[in-house]
Amino acid sequence: MTNLQPPLMGAMMDQPLLISSIIRFAARHYGGSEIVSRRVEGDMHRYTVRDCEARARRLANVLRAQQVAPGERVGTLAWNGYRHMELYYAVSGSGAVLHTINPRLHPDQIAYIVNHAEDQLLFFDLTFLPLVEAIAPRCPTVKAFVLMSDRAHMPAASNSANLLCYEDLIDAASTDYAWPEFDEHAAASLCYTSGTTGNPKGALYSHRSTVLHAYASAMPNALNVGAADVVLPVVPMFHVNAWGLPYSVLLAGAKLVLPGAALDGKSLYELFEAEGVTFSAGVPTVWLGLVNYVLQNGLAFSTFRRTVIGGAACPPALMDTLIDRLGVKVIHAWGMTEMSPLGTTGGLLAKHRDLPVESQRAILRKQGHAIFGVDMKIVDDGGCELPWDGRTFGHLLVRGPWIVSRYFGGNSGDEGGDVLQDGWFPTGDVATIDADGFMQITDRSKDVIKSGGEWIGSIDIENIAMAHPAVLQAACIGVHHPKWDERPVLVVVRRPGASLTREEMLRFFDGRIAKFWMPDDVVFVDALPTGATGKIQKNRLREQFRDYRLPG
Ligand code: AMP
Repeated sequence: MTNLQPPLMGAMMDQPLLISSIIRFAARHYGGSEIVSRRVEGDMHRYTVRDCEARARRLANVLRAQQVAPGERVGTLAWNGYRHMELYYAVSGSGAVLHTINPRLHPDQIAYIVNHAEDQLLFFDLTFLPLVEAIAPRCPTVKAFVLMSDRAHMPAASNSANLLCYEDLIDAASTDYAWPEFDEHAAASLCYTSGTTGNPKGALYSHRSTVLHAYASAMPNALNVGAADVVLPVVPMFHVNAWGLPYSVLLAGAKLVLPGAALDGKSLYELFEAEGVTFSAGVPTVWLGLVNYVLQNGLAFSTFRRTVIGGAACPPALMDTLIDRLGVKVIHAWGMTEMSPLGTTGGLLAKHRDLPVESQRAILRKQGHAIFGVDMKIVDDGGCELPWDGRTFGHLLVRGPWIVSRYFGGNSGDEGGDVLQDGWFPTGDVATIDADGFMQITDRSKDVIKSGGEWIGSIDIENIAMAHPAVLQAACIGVHHPKWDERPVLVVVRRPGASLTREEMLRFFDGRIAKFWMPDDVVFVDALPTGATGKIQKNRLREQFRDYRLPG
């Protein structure tokens, strides 16, 4: 066959992969599936996917009346709730771009990203009224601020002009709306990275990337979401689209439970039990709170059987407690904002079935296997590919149809240069990959500790420390050393009422790590600095320890 000959084309329909197709499908085929929300107003709200789709159509008419054009950005400052779901589908489905904003960011950063995205409308939950009033004068592109509540909850007086009431707008709008068809590569939603250094950068997802990610993430090897599930995403809808669950749960026909702002152990446990939750998703800190509440009160889960934990390394002690004491299967997942976010998920292969529990657990603790659609490799400092032997660590690079190719340019058009290296996205993580393809993160590149030219995996050290019963939280950072360049120091928060000395902590590492990985010091603190997504901020910790001198 010569290269000049055109390929024989397939004879299949050409239907664009659009976000509106998910809710149209769900309303038609799983229309009776419930969406239950704990509202910030304090009560519970329940309706069906069919109701959600009808209200999303009304909302699309509201956007049209507000003259939001295709491609224009619409911001949200909102918890996980049914009105946020309506926005997910109405904004993207109508051709505009849903810009979810992390309300835990500093108000200056929020104002920065609203301006960078040039948001035309800003929808917000009641909780964020003071925040919106504070930033509104600094957000000139926003034509109207919409309070996501009813008339009864509107403030009597407000100093922000153009304050609208969500329910009034919905009531006045018609359901007569036909979801438009357009190019599947069109932008659908926008999420800024948490930006620990410099300004946050925008990942601009397309309809195609979102639908493909939703398909792949629902697969058995990934999150395995099915119609018999009751799914409660604790992971917020303002951070990487709640790991795609607002899409994958609907296409799978499952029941969705949205926890609003009440994310403490007690509120979550009560909601899990009341609604029969079978599957959930969140960062490790959330599970620490929930698990502590359940164990301290001698409780058990009646229906909760599976959870995905990601966003930061899942401490092995937490995984063991969930599996062994509470009967909850843990899927360890890795990804990032730039990856929509799912990249890998943990799980066992058929050949692992008869392994002893401890060997199986060692596999489950890894960040897992790439899901179909994600390709990955590890490279050295010079970009040469490294072997998949489970020992050699290198910079982790990824590629695939739901991974960014560049950052969103915003009003300046500045896309931060070419972010890819020979077509691969550098994740900024350092990892090993074993012969079976299981990836394990050892560090963030910028958190890596290099002692005498050798890398020390701080996550391993932290995981071991967290297995000590007196340790609540631990972070390992590199500090300057005159001979070795850097040496590890372990910073520990003790559990309330527990006693633990430096020597006891160090002895705990004996036989568990290589000698040169042994922390040179252990420092006890009351709390570790965390960022807007609940992760420990090691750059701030390093800053705090800038003038620290190693003992001796
Ligand atoms: P974000 O874009 O805020 O979601 O952060 C992405 C980063 O979080 C990744 O590049 C990793 O450094 C870290 N991360 C996410 N999931 C995991 C995990 N399971 N284990 C270790 N680090 C993780």
